[in-house]
Amino acid sequence: MSRKVNINIECENCKKIYSIPFYASINPKVTPDIAKRFLNGDFSKAACPSCNHSNTVFEPVLYHDMKKELWIHVLALPLKSMSNEVFSEVTKNAVKRLFSGARAHSKMLGYENVKSYKYDIAYGIEDLKDGLIKADSGGSKKMKKLTENVHSAINESEDKIKNEDKKTAKGESKVKNKYISIAWFLFYLVAGTYFIVTSGWLLPVKIFIFIALVLILKSVAFSKK
Ligand SMILES: [Zn+2]
Repeated sequence: MSRKVNINIECENCKKIYSIPFYASINPKVTPDIAKRFLNGDFSKAACPSCNHSNTVFEPVLYHDMKKELWIHVLALPLKSMSNEVFSEVTKNAVKRLFSGARAHSKMLGYENVKSYKYDIAYGIEDLKDGLIKADSGGSKKMKKLTENVHSAINESEDKIKNEDKKTAKGESKVKNKYISIAWFLFYLVAGTYFIVTSGWLLPVKIFIFIALVLILKSVAFSKK
């Protein structure tokens, strides 16, 4: 799905703050026309309603191609326009969003389904276009590296969830075993007391019945597990 939201931007010229409709995520499989317009740069500028100045939209966009299995965090700024400090800051934030997005995505679609995905950060639309072309032949170095990192993060969180499930199951069976032990203890106590109190010439018959009862109850208890 292509997700449409409203965002506020400040005019570079007259400083007026105004609201524009904005596609926070774009899915070329579901809405190919919107994806085409996005790649054309139709959404990267928004004219100010007061002074008509054409402002750049800096909000990042998620480009999610379900057919090619690509998950790309698209930043508005091209690499050329960034200083080293800005680049590392912007990239750090983008990686964070990429990771949290990929995790949410894998929870939604299942871990197995997103392991075949490629993950990337694009610095501007030209970089995105370049990445899309390279994705067809295995992906750029940057895409490969990021994909590797995201996959290992997904594996880690998958292991964590599996371990938590195991712990819960262990805890449950521990509680269950405890109740079974208590039940057996009470049974032996009552039966033993009964035989001792009422022992007589019938004792051998009673012992036989007791053993038979134990065997029957045990087989019932274990077959239910
Ligand atoms: Zn303005």
